[in-house]
Amino acid sequence: MGTPAPGERVGLFGGTFDPPHVGHLATAVNVRHELRLDRVLLVVNNVPWQKVGSREISPADDRLAMVEAAVGEVEGIEASRLELDAGGLSYTADTLGTLLAEDPSRALFVVLGSDAAAGLLTWERADEVRDRASVVVVERPGSPETPPLPGWRWERVEVPSLEVSSTDLRARVAEGRPLDYLVPREVVECIARRGLYRQATRSEEQP
Ligand code: ATP
Ligand code: MG
Repeated sequence: MGTPAPGERVGLFGGTFDPPHVGHLATAVNVRHELRLDRVLLVVNNVPWQKVGSREISPADDRLAMVEAAVGEVEGIEASRLELDAGGLSYTADTLGTLLAEDPSRALFVVLGSDAAAGLLTWERADEVRDRASVVVVERPGSPETPPLPGWRWERVEVPSLEVSSTDLRARVAEGRPLDYLVPREVVECIARRGLYRQATRSEEQP
């Protein structure tokens, strides 16, 4: 990564990425372009607290490997293992704190789809997130627009509307349907190599 430039503009796009897909990647690239960010980090959640108990989540090292495969050589888009290294539950407030402790001159941007933005106030120490970063919301097909929260630094960025979800992709693998063009080829290969998603997880099985 090298020594960060002072005043670096960094986007944090957090997710379970189980698996990462073109919706995530097109969002990261277009937000970086529109807001002239130096880098967008795809921050792999260690234990995504919103999802614990609802389904089986792939091991963090599998999800990180897929995100690394997904970003490849795309300039300014990076896989981040910050929350894996921190261990325990993943809270954005802490991740922002870590990035600011490394370099207080950084300007941080938390990137979210509209579905995730709707839950912002339920986040652990939401006030710290508000104070440490701007929020960047992209519309996600099927999710209503989320109005800006008063007192937050808030931006909306238009990105190509891609109706893709990791939930659908997991079901595709379990049912033997193709993933091609919905995720980069390197991710298709990574999923096959690691034998991921071959069986539907209990809560996602069809009745
Ligand atoms: P799952 O179906 O398992 O919840 P997902 O596709 O929603 O997976 P996540 O890892 O939950 O992916 O999402 C991480 C972030 O990416 C969230 O902020 C989410 O809103 C955003 N996101 C996911 N898919 C898209 C998409 N197709 N377009 C724009 N944003 C997206
Ligand atoms: Mg999701």
